[in-house]
Amino acid sequence: MSTQLTTDAATGTVTIDLARLRANWHSICGLVGPAACGAVVKANAYGLGADRVIPALYAAGAREFFIATPSEAAAARALVPDATLYALDGVPTGSGPILKSVGAIPVISSLEELDHWISLHAPEEQAPVALHVDSGLNRLGMEHGEVDALVSDGERLSKLSIVLVMSHLASADDPSDSKSEKQLSRFNDLHAKFPNVRASLAASDGLMLGSRYHFDLVRPGYALYGGQAFRGGPTPVGPVVRVEARILQVRSVAAGETVGYSGTWMAERPSRVAIVAAGYADGIARTASAATGQVCGKVSVGGEHAPIVGRVSMDLITVDVTDLKRIPKRGEMAVLVGDGLTLESIGQAAKTIGYEVLTRLGPRFERVYIDGGD
Ligand SMILES: *Cc1c(COP(=O)(O)O)cnc(C)c1O
Repeated sequence: MSTQLTTDAATGTVTIDLARLRANWHSICGLVGPAACGAVVKANAYGLGADRVIPALYAAGAREFFIATPSEAAAARALVPDATLYALDGVPTGSGPILKSVGAIPVISSLEELDHWISLHAPEEQAPVALHVDSGLNRLGMEHGEVDALVSDGERLSKLSIVLVMSHLASADDPSDSKSEKQLSRFNDLHAKFPNVRASLAASDGLMLGSRYHFDLVRPGYALYGGQAFRGGPTPVGPVVRVEARILQVRSVAAGETVGYSGTWMAERPSRVAIVAAGYADGIARTASAATGQVCGKVSVGGEHAPIVGRVSMDLITVDVTDLKRIPKRGEMAVLVGDGLTLESIGQAAKTIGYEVLTRLGPRFERVYIDGGD
């Protein structure tokens, strides 16, 4: 990255409340106890900065972390030398030595991958693994035939230290979807083949489906960061992230004039339009653009919501502030996430999900860490 600017000079900030993050982890622990609560910190802790998020969660008491890739495993290991690290991408070809050297436990999804991991260990060593079994998502995970082949193969088993059996739910956000019950039942059958091995099924939404889904360990990511994707009611967590970007100019637009690329939005009355310093290069979805008469994305200025108008461009959005009680001034900050604009509502307005809104917040936003209040 380029030189770190002071917050006063930043065109945009992502403010991350580490006290709230720790409180969210504690709330989920309380909800799922006696099951343990891990923390999913892949993708740079969902874009919030693994170097700050991982130590904060460790300070709160988290000892089991899930990352996706070998490079994420190496970065996490430097931060938490004695924590358990699970690598959700397993052992991508060529990455075994890195995983071994940092002591990460790969989440293995096939017999082929398992044998590859075993081959990287000395004959007298037991290779530590988490087994990912498929219960109906059909993404990563061992097929049932492979699971049966493994449990009847004493030779292979003797070379392994299986520390976790896990699976992942497809539709946990919707409590009325019967797929979760089917997956739960399949997972119970699969887990029964590994008596005495800890089990994990639920992520942020699955843990809201009740204690039958908790097993020994839950794996929330999004909820720790304040996400509320579960549609059956609020998860007991609060917002961690606030995003702001600076207003560079406020201009008058005459009735009949258009704003932005391709002139997709036309002022139907004399209007005031604020030009805000964040665009699709910063993760503001271009699908939040609004043509004449449409309302898609919104921002908050002085506590009032105002619609994005015209196309979202690379570095800028244009916001119709005509109806605000107070017209903002150049230099003020517009709130992109926060002030009632939730990750979910923003995702919905942009025809995506809050997860994508969160993980796409770009490097031009300065990350500011606060620890309760400020
Ligand atoms: C990303 C991921 C999680 C965390 O999911 P959230 O919905 O963010 O809680 C858990 N388990 C697996 C396998 C994942 O890929």
